[in-house]
Amino acid sequence: MRFVDQVRIVVRAGNGGDGLVGWRREKYVPDGGPAGGDGGSGGDIIFVANDHLTTLLDLKFRQHFTATSGRKGGPNKMTGLSGDDLVVKVPVGTMVFMEGIAGEPGERPPWLAELDDSDGMENVGGVTWTDDGEDEELPSPLLSEPAGSHGSGRRKPNDGELPPEPGELLGDLTTPGQQLVIARGGRGGRGNVHFRTSTNRAPDYAEPGIPGEAFWLRLELKLMADVGIVGFPNVGKSTFIRAISRARPKVGDYPFTTLVPQLGVASLPDERSLVVADVPGLIRGASEGKGLGLEFLRHLERTRVLMHLVAHDFGEGRDPLKDLAALEHELKHYGPMFEGRPRVVAINKIDTPEGQELLGPLRKALRAQGIPLFPICALTGEGVPELMEALWRRVDMVRRSVPVPTDAP
Ligand code: GDP
Ligand code: MG
Repeated sequence: MRFVDQVRIVVRAGNGGDGLVGWRREKYVPDGGPAGGDGGSGGDIIFVANDHLTTLLDLKFRQHFTATSGRKGGPNKMTGLSGDDLVVKVPVGTMVFMEGIAGEPGERPPWLAELDDSDGMENVGGVTWTDDGEDEELPSPLLSEPAGSHGSGRRKPNDGELPPEPGELLGDLTTPGQQLVIARGGRGGRGNVHFRTSTNRAPDYAEPGIPGEAFWLRLELKLMADVGIVGFPNVGKSTFIRAISRARPKVGDYPFTTLVPQLGVASLPDERSLVVADVPGLIRGASEGKGLGLEFLRHLERTRVLMHLVAHDFGEGRDPLKDLAALEHELKHYGPMFEGRPRVVAINKIDTPEGQELLGPLRKALRAQGIPLFPICALTGEGVPELMEALWRRVDMVRRSVPVPTDAP
């Protein structure tokens, strides 16, 4: 499975239902006045940040997100049913960019509009678009078009407000549970009951519903975490995430068990929490683009504190001190953004004799450089609370001073 960190989708909020032209039809009321109800409002498209999702893969496969439209107004001043909101779960760290206003269902995405030699399928940004054809009359899932409210398939903005510009950042979903109304459903049109005046007691018109907002969007996943774990494969990154959070990443004995960043939300005493990211794929030469190195180093950029994790065994029985130097080399080689970012060093697997053996020498070597060492056993949780507190102190410091770096435009 490839790590999908960018997708293009189309969202369509529901249209407002049309107002009804209707008349009072009660017994014993000879002169029935206007009684047509208002149309229901269209459903919104709402994005919600979810910390159990780690990729945009689900969105890539679905691509089209449409909320239901409001129903036409009813007789006896009854308001039509509102459309349901469509709630779309997106991973924490999703940034939403405007690509353009969407027209009728079936239209070509704006970034394909210039390409005319299409055979009906295009692959853009890893997303395959099916082109439904421009000339073909497509059945509209929307209610009948209210006359005169919008021609040419282009929507009018809700209540006169201008729609966002292409390229504009519409939102950055950085915290679990955060919501973003990305496309608003249209208001329902008013029924003729509202248009009775002293001079016109029988208005035979009603307002059409306002079309819902419809946008082409580009979603980009940028990992957002307080702590980024930096470590070679098999040092126990996934096991550590399991130990501190509800996240259940795969654990395995071979490199690249986990191909996607895993976010774990760790709870500390006194209702404190830390978002910790297991960023796999760091191998020697990552900063030169080896493996998935660059992609993951890019995600690591959006973390506040780095946690170096080493262990005595991961295949070749390497020397943790050398590994630390190698990790630092990759970070430095990638760019200057990690300079000055707080770091914590932890050694895992101290439940084993080999782990114990390394502890003393490593601690001594690091102490000479003024770096504290946190010995842990991710399997049993030994030493983990102390490590979490150390991470917290640094994260707290960063949170209160500098903002997390972001390369958002
Ligand atoms: P990752 O590649 O860094 O995510 O490493 P994993 O979490 O997948 O762990 C690699 C292997 O090390 C697995 O077999 C784990 O069970 C094992 N492991 C992880 N933590 C510990 C530990 O504290 N002690 C011991 N003995 N083994 C561990
Ligand atoms: Mg792993």
